[in-house]
Amino acid sequence: MTQTTQQRFMDLLKEQSSYGEAIGLMAWDMRTKAPKKGIDGRSEVLGVLSQKVHEIQTSQEMRGYIDELKGNVADPIVQRSLEEAEETYEKTAKIPTREYREYVTLQSKAESMWAEAKEKNDFESFRPYLEKLVEYNRKFADYWGYDEHRYDALLHNYEPGVTVKVLDEVFPKVRKALTHLLQQTQEAATQPDPSVLEGHFPKDKQAQFSEEILKRMGYDFDAGRLDETVHPFAIGLNTNDVRVTTKYDEKDFRTAVFGTIHEGGHALYEQNIDPKLAFTPLADGTSMGIHESQSLFWENFVARSEGFWKNHYELFKKFAPESFQDLPLEKFYPAVNEVKPSLIRIEADELTYCLHIMVRYELEKALIGGEIEVKDLPELWNQKMEDYLGVRPQNDGEGVLQDIHWSGGDFGYFPSYALGYMYAAQLNTAMRKEIDVDQFIEMGDFKQIKSWLTENVHQYGKMKKPLQILNDITGEGLNPDYLVSYLSGKYKKIYNFS
Ligand code: ZN
Repeated sequence: MTQTTQQRFMDLLKEQSSYGEAIGLMAWDMRTKAPKKGIDGRSEVLGVLSQKVHEIQTSQEMRGYIDELKGNVADPIVQRSLEEAEETYEKTAKIPTREYREYVTLQSKAESMWAEAKEKNDFESFRPYLEKLVEYNRKFADYWGYDEHRYDALLHNYEPGVTVKVLDEVFPKVRKALTHLLQQTQEAATQPDPSVLEGHFPKDKQAQFSEEILKRMGYDFDAGRLDETVHPFAIGLNTNDVRVTTKYDEKDFRTAVFGTIHEGGHALYEQNIDPKLAFTPLADGTSMGIHESQSLFWENFVARSEGFWKNHYELFKKFAPESFQDLPLEKFYPAVNEVKPSLIRIEADELTYCLHIMVRYELEKALIGGEIEVKDLPELWNQKMEDYLGVRPQNDGEGVLQDIHWSGGDFGYFPSYALGYMYAAQLNTAMRKEIDVDQFIEMGDFKQIKSWLTENVHQYGKMKKPLQILNDITGEGLNPDYLVSYLSGKYKKIYNFS
């Protein structure tokens, strides 16, 4: 019996992931190449296809396969696919269809209202939408259920296994260490001079350099491509078609160079998932946090390291304009690692980045928990920015309205960024016990680093849960000490304090 049921189950998953691939390709096209007039019609087509996926996920057919196959499956891939399908089914089925539809409509409306509000620094015009989004998320969390904190139900969607209890233990520890380090860098006698990085850097030259680095990282251009966009992203359509986009700023090469390497780290993950997982829900990164650990590993631990620039500075100069030709590496390296508390998360340096995340986490947690309301947000945001980073936004555009996430109803997502960074530091330490990472970086030879990541992380896709990946590699759970000691070692050297 089960052989044919199993086959039909896997066929249904294939149909689902085929719609998923079509949606992904259209979304990529909309964000890169599509003509302006085509956007509205395309959005409708995307809506129709998304509805189709939703129907498959919650169909009687799917429910039937889950009931029949549960406990009767030997193949581990089918087994894990079954678990994923069941979780999705349960999660979706718990939300009344009418509420789900209303929520989807609200999401798209809220996103455009947010963009307008941000442009005009006008929180009030966005407030009613955000209030509704929060209301729905509180309700959904209650439908899904949780043990201790309502926010846990939302966290679970992005980082299964991580809870408020874990974050409330880890984040304050990290915050204390980072604010202390931040103070030390600010008071240090040695200060990097970022003005040396100024100067016009033609887009095509930035693109050539970025492409060369992507190739060296092991990104397969026969199974991907690099395009330009306003908001950079990586998207895996299937393991043989994983695309990267980047943004060029001719006044600041760092945006494109570090941005491309970051997205390249995401892309390497998806290009190297075991092909056996194709057409299942497992052919994807296992969580937002683990995905981010891959991008941040390449961006920070590799590309912002001294060894990387020792090797690649000559290559960089080949593409760089005249103004860089006499700039010694001893000035360049500290400049690309300057620490400076700022208002905008996506422009934050390695040291202050997690503090931005903590501001958002604490507000989200309190909002979803019902301890604060949306109307309180602008003031609380500004206050927390001042407490954590020592800077205060002058308007809501550079404050509470800066990120797109809440306008799409994405609550519970932000912590993944900080978790990814901590995971990356843990992986970095584990990798160094097995291979000479510094030497390979300095040689510009990334083959073994990439193989290590593929062997320990990439290949599994969703076969392993995030904390299982971490545990199998490091023998422990989430531990922020590695990130703190990495950052303190790095900045002591650059800023010359003890
Ligand atoms: Zn990322």
